[in-house]
Amino acid sequence: MALVELHETQAGFVDRVAADGGHGSTRAEVLRSVLLTHVNDRLAGAPAYVGGTPELDVLESPFPAYGEKRWETTLEPVTGKAVPVMRGEVLRIEQVEGGTCVDFNAFNLHDHKEFLDCGFTRSFQSFDPRRGEFIWTNAPRGRPMFGILEIADTCELDIVGHRCNRVLDELGWDMPVHANCQDSLAEAIREYRLTPDDVHDSFNLWMATTIDDSGRRRFKWNPAQRGDRIDLVAMFDVLAAAVICGLGDLVGINNFTFTPIRLEIYSRSPDTERLVDAAEERWGRMASQVKSDELADVPVLASRALERDPDYVPSYRPAPATTTVEVELSADEERVLDGLVATGVYGDSAGEALRAAFMRWCNSHLTRVRRPFVEFR
Ligand SMILES: [Zn+2]
Repeated sequence: MALVELHETQAGFVDRVAADGGHGSTRAEVLRSVLLTHVNDRLAGAPAYVGGTPELDVLESPFPAYGEKRWETTLEPVTGKAVPVMRGEVLRIEQVEGGTCVDFNAFNLHDHKEFLDCGFTRSFQSFDPRRGEFIWTNAPRGRPMFGILEIADTCELDIVGHRCNRVLDELGWDMPVHANCQDSLAEAIREYRLTPDDVHDSFNLWMATTIDDSGRRRFKWNPAQRGDRIDLVAMFDVLAAAVICGLGDLVGINNFTFTPIRLEIYSRSPDTERLVDAAEERWGRMASQVKSDELADVPVLASRALERDPDYVPSYRPAPATTTVEVELSADEERVLDGLVATGVYGDSAGEALRAAFMRWCNSHLTRVRRPFVEFR
């Protein structure tokens, strides 16, 4: 016999499987039945991963016709520009000659505490989002900020590494006052009264890097060609900031020189509005997403030093309560569970292994991690 300690949430999944039928009608029957199904999955090649199974959540849409071009500028090395891009408008970032890495930041135009978040983008899309995927904002909002309409194959993304900065310049080349993306982004957003502290993790475009076997980042040659571009449709009003990487003379990610970059904005059109409406309805108004107006009364700190609030009373959510299920096991089932425990990745007891097998099966077959994706027809 095994005692399986289940959290209420997990017991809820067990009950759902019991109600769906095919795996018994009691909690104990479901846990026994799913154990064998899960072991069959593993023998058929399923990995021991413990997360949910990603599944594309597809929105079908015609590729949108853009409105008229309403603004353009050419960034000369080593400059940048912050520019408002309104909901449904398309920002185009294009190589004038090629070979240039572009660092990119963006803010909600009406609430600068919401901004582009590489971590959210890595979590909900991938480390290398492509056409039809989204760039997301930070928690607790966490909503699509831009849809990627076009992206050149040469536009390798580095959304793991930091923007280049003076500390890197000094540690790497003993040049503490050299141009760098942190300072260039700060200079660009200063036009809108944002500060160097507001520069955030950069969505690095045409930044060809790799991680070597020892976990260190290596810079590659920049493959970008003249005319290569990325087109981003704004999901809401944003301030977008793009800069030419300041390390052109020092590292190969800019092919040891600097070249200009073109920025263009295309007005919204009925097509882009339709697309943004549909994407927002599906992924921009979820119950979990905290809205800016819900945070309207939350103060934005003006002082640098932190002070304890004497009235603070902690108010965390409680952990889910637990319940124990007794499961009678055959000798064969006990041997199977001993085998799972021996792998080292199913816990230390038959009860823990039964729970781990059930939740792995549940993540593979019952629940899915939805990954937003627009399929252009
Ligand atoms: Zn840079």
